[in-house]
Amino acid sequence: MTTLEIINLQRDYFFSNKTKSVKFRIEQLKKFRKILKDNESLLYDAIDKDFKKSKYETYLTELSLVYHEINLAIKKVRKWSRPKYVWTNMANFPGKSRIFFEPLGNSLVIGAWNYPYQLSLIPAITAIAAGNTVIIKPSELSEHTSAVMCKLINENFDSGLLYVKEGSVKETTELLEQRFDKIFFTGSTAVGRIVMQAAANHLTPVTLELGGKSPVFVLPDASLKMTAKRIAWGKFLNAGQTCVAPDYVLVHKDIKEKLLQELKKQVEIIHGNEPKGKETYVRIINKRHFDRLNKLIHRDKIYYGGETDEEQLYISPTILDNISFDDKVMEDEIFGPILPVIEFDNLDDIITKVKSRPNPLALYVFSNKNKIKQRLIKEISFGGGTVNDTILHLSNSKLPFGGKGFSGTGNYHGKAGFDTFSHKKSILFKGLWFEPFLKYTPYNKFKMKLLKWIIE
Ligand code: NAD
Repeated sequence: MTTLEIINLQRDYFFSNKTKSVKFRIEQLKKFRKILKDNESLLYDAIDKDFKKSKYETYLTELSLVYHEINLAIKKVRKWSRPKYVWTNMANFPGKSRIFFEPLGNSLVIGAWNYPYQLSLIPAITAIAAGNTVIIKPSELSEHTSAVMCKLINENFDSGLLYVKEGSVKETTELLEQRFDKIFFTGSTAVGRIVMQAAANHLTPVTLELGGKSPVFVLPDASLKMTAKRIAWGKFLNAGQTCVAPDYVLVHKDIKEKLLQELKKQVEIIHGNEPKGKETYVRIINKRHFDRLNKLIHRDKIYYGGETDEEQLYISPTILDNISFDDKVMEDEIFGPILPVIEFDNLDDIITKVKSRPNPLALYVFSNKNKIKQRLIKEISFGGGTVNDTILHLSNSKLPFGGKGFSGTGNYHGKAGFDTFSHKKSILFKGLWFEPFLKYTPYNKFKMKLLKWIIE
């Protein structure tokens, strides 16, 4: 189907009002869940072909989150979409005020490749729960997962409601030329800019889930064994190709050596001495990213790892020591299994440094001192974070997930996702029997006094 054909189909579908029925949305979500469950083996095979990802990790980091969001939406969508009664102010008495949750309309979801299922499917599920139609444009880099989503969705759903359009820059550009009522984009900051500019032509609201350099602060009072274990897990999961992966570590100089030793130990416990041979260690998505990452490994600063195999697109878990903010690895988001460690002496200076850089998507702090945790949370502007662990804030659907400024705009997961795909339509209900004389001329001192009394 051409871009224009599918868009026209979805416009007609939305105009038909079918998606306004909450019962219909629940039916579609249940169908979605069944299709995924019945075809799980295809989903596992496809992701393994794309970047050698194990079944367990695919379930843990992808499908479990997708099922959770579907189940939650099925359970809660009636409540979420119920009109909300709010207080009516004195000036509008007698009257009733309600907020109606209206679907935005035709939505476009552009996905990234690193968690190809959850990044395309969770926004789509949420969009359907809120009563929108959806075109999903998955990433062309993860071609097998893109193809399997296309097959399962396009063979089973009415294309007017939900459709997968595969393709790369050309196809995405074509889509972006059309008018949508909502664009939900996950990907790089550079492409986020292109998407926002295209959306501006149609005044289309956007949610941008972007990346960034997410720091980890390690303070002297932290338990280093557990800290290292949790950093190593979050960093090398998916071979570092995670938007909220710890990008770099900022560690107090007094504990740096100890932390480095623990990090090395923990990486070996998690991934073994030879991660290349283990089926649980993920590969780099393609040659371009492999080459980019290879150049970021400062050979003279390797503390641990640094092994690469171009043919297998393999880069071992790598820790870099004696790194400064001027090193190349500190310029852009790493998005791979390379962990630079920077030592600091003075917390004030290092906070100022982080604040002067683009807003991170995530921030992590390992400390038991409440004052320090609160200070970092309050002073640094970032998307969201976890205290004394990494990545996990994104797995609580009660916490709206998203970036800030350079790392994104808007958020989703759970109810926040429903709100992202809904318009809040505010209605004041009035009766026809009472009319306040204060609205009308002649204006005089008495009316002014009364008006002020009511308003103030
Ligand atoms: P990307 O920006 O290269 O691609 C994302 C999508 O945009 C793909 O579907 C791609 O086809 C499309 N695209 C690429 N170039 C385009 C162009 N010129 N015009 C129009 N569309 C274009 O990102 P990626 O490599 O797929 O993903 C990695 C980035 O995504 C990282 O920066 C990562 O941090 C970020 N990310 C963010 C989140 C989040 O939730 N905030 C999640 C995952 C990844």
